[in-house]
Amino acid sequence: MGYLRYKLSEKISLIQETGVANFMRCNIWHIKGRDFDLVVDTGMGLDSLKQWVMQETSRPIKAIVTHSHFDHSGCLHEFDVRMGHQAESDILAQPTNQSTLFDGAWTRIGIIDPQQHPDYSAQSYSVKAAALTDYLDEGDVIDLGDAAYQVLHLPGHSPGSIGLWDRTNKVLFSGDALYDGELLDSLYHSDKQVYLQTLRRIESLGVEVFHAGHYPSFGSERMQHLITQYRNGNNSLGDIEKWYEESQGQMSNIFAEQDWSEYFNNS
Ligand SMILES: [Zn+2]
Ligand SMILES: [Zn+2]
Repeated sequence: MGYLRYKLSEKISLIQETGVANFMRCNIWHIKGRDFDLVVDTGMGLDSLKQWVMQETSRPIKAIVTHSHFDHSGCLHEFDVRMGHQAESDILAQPTNQSTLFDGAWTRIGIIDPQQHPDYSAQSYSVKAAALTDYLDEGDVIDLGDAAYQVLHLPGHSPGSIGLWDRTNKVLFSGDALYDGELLDSLYHSDKQVYLQTLRRIESLGVEVFHAGHYPSFGSERMQHLITQYRNGNNSLGDIEKWYEESQGQMSNIFAEQDWSEYFNNS
């Protein structure tokens, strides 16, 4: 099947697409609530995410996209409730390979395992249109009945990037605004100055746990390291093809599933 689930707790799970290169595979978060569930980000859309999530819950599901890039928005169209920031609503309503970032280097480097996805081809892949049903912006609160998430507007990587902030537990779902890897700040709609402001803001929140858009979760010390490195010019990704070529030696098994068990208490 096309997904794996790692349970962090009774309420929060990480879902990962299988057969997607581990540097490209976005983290999909399933948050179970009293009144409804949230699915935060939706992967590339190679297999049905909604059907898979519905095996685990009978509550209504609201899907949120942290931003419109193809690795996050691929299954958004499947959900009845589709929430995200207005600044990327046009992209989601009428996606093109250019606007969702699926062009250039990403179509040339191997991001999909042909063994696991024999039907995939970079020539025919595209994100399906998924107009937002609800806009989310700074200050909105998503109240699940037994937990509440405050929406933070975190632009820079993209203009409509958002995060979900659980102030009570000091947990931030940070999307691609900050993850434990090289940040992308030179995309067609990135803004480096705005990105710096967003990172300064993230630093000031007092986050204890980051559940990010890619790579394993991390804490405040790692956050400080990542942001400091970025400010020093040592944590951003420029030429993707060059980066891919240079890192080939370390990426011999890019389709292997990352083992997250050391990060989560499976229960
Ligand atoms: Zn992104
Ligand atoms: Zn991403």
